[in-house]
Amino acid sequence: MNIGVLSLQGAFLKHMQLLKQIGVNPIQVRYEKDLLNLHGLIIPGGESTVLSKLIMRQSLYEPMEKFISKYPVYGTCAGLILLSKIIENNKIVKSFEKLDISVKRNAWGRQINSFITNLDIKEFGKPFKGIFIRAPKINKVSPKVDVLSSFNDNPVMIRQQNFLGTTFHPELSNDYRIHKYFIGMVQEC
Ligand code: GLN
Repeated sequence: MNIGVLSLQGAFLKHMQLLKQIGVNPIQVRYEKDLLNLHGLIIPGGESTVLSKLIMRQSLYEPMEKFISKYPVYGTCAGLILLSKIIENNKIVKSFEKLDISVKRNAWGRQINSFITNLDIKEFGKPFKGIFIRAPKINKVSPKVDVLSSFNDNPVMIRQQNFLGTTFHPELSNDYRIHKYFIGMVQEC
């Protein structure tokens, strides 16, 4: 199975390492041709404004949009922002508008307010160490969205059909469960 990791900016290397550790072949995605022969895609955390500009610069928006309409995609943090229907405080990011949610960028505060907390995730058993780095807050979710985990009443892990999103960074936690969950989604597709 080939899983693409958008590798323009941000935490893509950690996702690649983790995928290798669970026996999946990660493919760096920088150009349209890299989307060929993939079964799923991860959009990593980073800076959504920069990621969005780079997606445009690489002429990747349309090819990614086509890919996203067929295959499972997992967005972490900035990646989740890029998949959200509504970005409340945004003039720059061109989202793919797949997750029926409303998000606010940097809503937990600045870099210094980044935090780590144990999260209970639906059907996961023992808690997952959630690492939040200048994370967005999900303020509204439509009934079409399944909330898999919340922190202080805010959804932090969600799924809508083929789309998975976390506002935190599981690739930094040395815990494979969320990546394995995503691989399961890809296998089912
Ligand atoms: N603050 C970033 C943004 O708005 C997201 C941070 C992250 O991906 N860790 O894009």
